[in-house]
Amino acid sequence: MLKFPVYLDYNSTTPVDPLVLEKMLPYFNDKFGNAASKTHSFGWIAEEAVDQAREKVAALINSEKEEIVFTSGSTEAINFALKGVFENYISKGNHIVTVKTEHKAVLDTCSYLETKGAAITYLAVDREGMIDLNRLSDAITEKTILVSVMFANNETGVMQHIEEIGSICKEKKVLFFCDATQAAGKTRVDVNEHQVDLMCISAHKLYGPKGTGALYIRRKNPRAKPAPLIHGGGHEREFRSGTLNVPGIVGFGEACALAQKKMWEDGERISKLRTLLEQSLAETGNNFINGSIRNRLHNTTNISFNGINSGIFIKELPDIAVATGSACTSAVAEPSHVLKAMGLSDEEANSSIRFSLGRFTTEEEIKFAIEQIKKISR
Ligand SMILES: *Cc1c(COP(=O)(O)O)cnc(C)c1O
Repeated sequence: MLKFPVYLDYNSTTPVDPLVLEKMLPYFNDKFGNAASKTHSFGWIAEEAVDQAREKVAALINSEKEEIVFTSGSTEAINFALKGVFENYISKGNHIVTVKTEHKAVLDTCSYLETKGAAITYLAVDREGMIDLNRLSDAITEKTILVSVMFANNETGVMQHIEEIGSICKEKKVLFFCDATQAAGKTRVDVNEHQVDLMCISAHKLYGPKGTGALYIRRKNPRAKPAPLIHGGGHEREFRSGTLNVPGIVGFGEACALAQKKMWEDGERISKLRTLLEQSLAETGNNFINGSIRNRLHNTTNISFNGINSGIFIKELPDIAVATGSACTSAVAEPSHVLKAMGLSDEEANSSIRFSLGRFTTEEEIKFAIEQIKKISR
């Protein structure tokens, strides 16, 4: 049986997997201890649970568990990485290189740092959403302390050549921060193979709870040392103070372990459903897909419908939950900065819809969505 509305917005958040929820529940009451309490078993039990979760999070990205710092999510981890590196490396330089299509958490933090004396280079992307690696290489100067490039874009699913970016940064001896919030759990993310020094991930994008995430901080070759964002008590090896969100962290760990186990099986199934969606919609001949077809997450498709404003689309299709190419953060809908950077006109960007599929998406749901969309896009 179909449940309405059909959820096709997994890139904005995912439901907590029932297996994850089950593991979390005892840590709200029975095992409620503070992981920082060293004097009794309540604390030890919580600490042990956090330790196991840390191992599972680390395993998903092939890091050491000591390199994981728990945060409230990716937005905090991004603020921590960018502000923290800027503060601690200012004697080396004030220059940061990033990309126009990054998440607002990166772009807004960069604008903030500009008010504090940072010089930021915003790299352009081509029509497919890809950066030019030669331009990246040329943008790095002696003053550059950090390169920040996301693994996979949340709006289009486009994946950059992270391994090549990592080796450019290594060669030029600048730190590389990668926002892997969308990639982790959907494709292989490996901090060593991809040569990343700092990386953020977030539990609620991979079937864990909201309000929990992590910053990976490389300990060796090179040792990255961002200044802490939050002070008070010295938790997380002085990197991030505050009582740990034990149930959230337990859920995050479980979600990572589950993602690692199910990544390929989920990916194969989901990509077939996406193909079904894209091919069926292509039959109407009035739309086009945004972003590189080759370098793309398996679950995301961003489609512009010629001459149809996505706002109307959303209004007329209350039974499917999707996102549009315009951010409704202000009173007036602004066309997506990602699609604009890729060279779309305002009109094209404002006619785009992001479909993001996930672990619980069924063929029946996709067929229903296709039928609904065909009705209004003829
Ligand atoms: C969701 C998202 C974020 C923000 O993560 P939160 O954990 O919700 O703060 C950052 N970057 C990308 C690419 C995202 O998709």
